[in-house]
Amino acid sequence: MDNSSAELNHISLEQENQDLKEIIEIATQITAELDIESIIKNVVWSIMARFQTESVTFIFPLEDDSLNVKIIHYHGLKKEDLKTGLINIDPVISYFEKVEYSQISYKEFYESFPDKRISREFERIKTNFIIPLRTDKGVTGILLLPEKGSKESFTLLETQYIARIIRFASIAVENANLYHQATTDRMTKLFSHHFFEKALDDELSRAKRYGTIFSLIMFDIDHFKTFNDTYGHLQGDIIIKQIAKILLNSIRQIDFAARYGGEEFTVILPEVDINGAAVAAERLRKKIADYEFPGDGKSLHVTISLGVAEYNPEKIQSLSQMVNEVDKALYESKETGRNKVTLAK
Ligand code: GH3
Ligand code: MG
Ligand code: MG
Repeated sequence: MDNSSAELNHISLEQENQDLKEIIEIATQITAELDIESIIKNVVWSIMARFQTESVTFIFPLEDDSLNVKIIHYHGLKKEDLKTGLINIDPVISYFEKVEYSQISYKEFYESFPDKRISREFERIKTNFIIPLRTDKGVTGILLLPEKGSKESFTLLETQYIARIIRFASIAVENANLYHQATTDRMTKLFSHHFFEKALDDELSRAKRYGTIFSLIMFDIDHFKTFNDTYGHLQGDIIIKQIAKILLNSIRQIDFAARYGGEEFTVILPEVDINGAAVAAERLRKKIADYEFPGDGKSLHVTISLGVAEYNPEKIQSLSQMVNEVDKALYESKETGRNKVTLAK
């Protein structure tokens, strides 16, 4: 080995060493993260910082959406919406399932992939380099990279770096997904009953320990059995999903909304007293009463009855006492005419 190649080897060993340190750092962060968006942001920024690329794009197929892909495109530090229309990347996924490459240049992809519409979409975002995201389950998505800041092509060491990060990212995303599934109600995407109880318990402990306050709203759709009998169960499901959306749009980021039962919902409002919660509850009641739910040729209307309670350290010791308080208030709303808000005494 002559001097210059020994030196090159030394440089690449040092780079690999540096890369591994970075990968461990990133892996430690993302595998402890349960928010998929944060995991992806972390990976995107690491790749951008390492290669000085101007953008990074992930494309994932989605099972339960009418738009059948999720595109996460970062241009610099800014996340941008890509209006690509309906790209179906299933053929791209199958393409990568059949080949072994861990990466392919855009040029090679263009030449070997039959559907030129997809290639052109990739070209539009200046794709120079395509990396399949491989997990034990096969190819689960793809990563698109433009040219490097230096305009050089990616070296083996560099694609290895990306592949390693992506490997950890896939595990982290899968963990986050599992967590999400275990805590979320499938139909409404709100938190599940089980997870609500855990969240309420946490909030109670925090309130006891730090003297903080919080409130609880519980509501139930009025005469929903009659609604189902009249319009059918499927139409009923559409109402439940839409109410969940309205609910999510009506509360703050730190509030915690759950599907408590079939057509019953709860919201935990940290740092809010009963009067604040009453205002939020009344706003929600009115929104839903006024909402025109799409029906078969005509709009449909439903109302909800609500109960509101606040944490009071003298009265409330346990989770079930808190739920009792709010449940009693909700029951009173039902008994005294429905479509109204009642505050716990
Ligand atoms: P009230 O005003 O007293 O609440 O009357 P209600 O008919 O809403 O009350 P009840 O508890 O007797 O019935 C609740 C109904 O909600 C019955 C059930 O079929 C319906 N329901 C519960 N979960 C779902 C669901 O997931 N989808 C649909 N479509 N209906 C549901
Ligand atoms: Mg009910
Ligand atoms: Mg009901």
